[in-house]
Amino acid sequence: MFGFEELSQTSGVDLLAQPHPFMTVPLRGSNFIFRDLMKGSQLPTGNHFVDVKDITDIPAGRFVMDLAQGDLLAGLFAFVGMLPPGSMRRLLVITGKIPGITTLGANPDKIDVAVLRPKTAAVTMKFLHYLDRDGGKAGTIWTPADADRIISAMNNIYSQQANITFKLHKADPLEINEHFGPIIMDEVYDKYLKDKLDKDADVTVLFVGRWAHSRVQTANATTNHYGKNHVIVINDKPTGEGVKDIDPFELTLAHELAHSLGVTQGGVDGHGHQKRNHVLLSAGQQSLKISKDIARIINPWDGEATRAARH
Ligand SMILES: [Zn+2]
Repeated sequence: MFGFEELSQTSGVDLLAQPHPFMTVPLRGSNFIFRDLMKGSQLPTGNHFVDVKDITDIPAGRFVMDLAQGDLLAGLFAFVGMLPPGSMRRLLVITGKIPGITTLGANPDKIDVAVLRPKTAAVTMKFLHYLDRDGGKAGTIWTPADADRIISAMNNIYSQQANITFKLHKADPLEINEHFGPIIMDEVYDKYLKDKLDKDADVTVLFVGRWAHSRVQTANATTNHYGKNHVIVINDKPTGEGVKDIDPFELTLAHELAHSLGVTQGGVDGHGHQKRNHVLLSAGQQSLKISKDIARIINPWDGEATRAARH
């Protein structure tokens, strides 16, 4: 169906984007895509935004280590050097030179390549413990020792796809000597938690054990916005989201981080949720794939913001 193929679901390639297949490339970094040369289709060539190199026949160890980020590295090792010599399926490395977006022609197809500047977001994590109604201890099962692992899981999702890196600012326990119910709801949040946001971090994540909105009685997590600061409240064990083989906690936190990075309006419900399935922030079935529509909001490429402002 497509002359281009992605290496993995989360490699920063959106074949269903409009008007052309789309991929992100980090500025002064690289991304990868397959090109199928069957039926006379051609290889794209670089321009002043990007370099394009066919690396199908190059042995893996010579170049891969420094180029790929996160999970893509392991995926690449599985491919590089494995295709038969002269394969019609070519592995291309695309390297970002100038920030912006460019359309590469590769008859009979086109692909849009956005070269993204690096973006970082500082994250503070607070791990709530409180007293239950019987005076026992309640709160989250996660601890500050989990913080680095959680940050790297999020960087695996966001770095290759959107050139966004989360940096851990602080990871602290949060002890509140008050009696709360088994589920933290809006009243407790408003009275005891919302002032715990770290103004020095872009995002404060509150691990509270169990969370629900008072009105709807459900939610796996929520994001509240206070100007440039954002607070995420998240369940230890989110349920009912996503698909097989995706950790529901990672999916839920990745979803809320997208809201913190600016996906707050539009979409099917005015909160930025997408009609399309199998993407992050889908109102239906989610995945960890960051679509072009979400990427352009959370880390807009040069030219994108200006164009949007004119409408
Ligand atoms: Zn949401």
